[in-house]
Amino acid sequence: MLYVDGNWVEEGQAAVHPEDRGYNFGDGIYEVVRIYRGRLYQWDAHLTRLFRSAREIKLALPWSAEELTHLAKELLAKNNITAQDDATLYLQISRGTAPRVHDIPGGIKPVIMAFVRPKARPVEDMKKGWTAQLVEDIRWLRCDIKTLNLLGAVLVKQYAKDAGAQDSILHRNGIITECSSSNLFAVKNGELYTHPADNLILHGITRQVVIDLAKANGIGVHEEAFDIAFLKQADELFLTSTTAEVMPLVSVDGEAVGNGQPGPVTVRLQALFEQHIHDSVLV
Ligand code: PLP
Repeated sequence: MLYVDGNWVEEGQAAVHPEDRGYNFGDGIYEVVRIYRGRLYQWDAHLTRLFRSAREIKLALPWSAEELTHLAKELLAKNNITAQDDATLYLQISRGTAPRVHDIPGGIKPVIMAFVRPKARPVEDMKKGWTAQLVEDIRWLRCDIKTLNLLGAVLVKQYAKDAGAQDSILHRNGIITECSSSNLFAVKNGELYTHPADNLILHGITRQVVIDLAKANGIGVHEEAFDIAFLKQADELFLTSTTAEVMPLVSVDGEAVGNGQPGPVTVRLQALFEQHIHDSVLV
């Protein structure tokens, strides 16, 4: 069952108002949350980011963190998500419905929508890694807000696919930012390099987990911008996201990264991340 604007509805019964601003303008925010073995993973971090995104787009949420937590748990129960299941929870809040003008209408009521989908961990892909293509970062200047406006992300991913790669690595004037729907890490001399969490990237929850795990295990982390030349001579590359976890990138623009296999630091972080999942969902 889906939760749509205060109602539980069956698949296929959900309807969008033609003047929903999420639909017309991408005027809204969202989160994709991991469910491991029937339990919400990093839920508090997702809630914190959702409330921050709302503030940044001047959207006053009428729901408390407790109400959203209750909703998420009800959604899992109504969809019979049990301790056997790995899944994702999609939660979106549009600014609401109003006659179509660009500025924000007063008295508008946000529209919430949420659903779950089964989703296995990408275990085989994480062993092999993905190929990547460098693409210009054509997105806007507030990539830190998780908004429904994803056309830039859609296009850069498609440019990479059209070039025969599995994902895009984005650069803005030669400075590497992130990937189309994930954060990017380079490994050089055993240490991690990733773009600082400013307005040019999404502040990924998996990114932060990996940074914390690395630091706790003696792996140096540099949250510093780096350029294409640095990327091209990195020993290893990997991306992080809620669904892709710690995904090695084994080639860029058709050239092998390192020896073309997932590297030792990446593999170690995958193991640390897997242990972290177990520790998080089994407590
Ligand atoms: N960067 C972008 C542009 C994203 O869309 C996402 C996730 O959707 C991420 C990074 C990774 O964020 P998280 O680890 O919170 O899933």
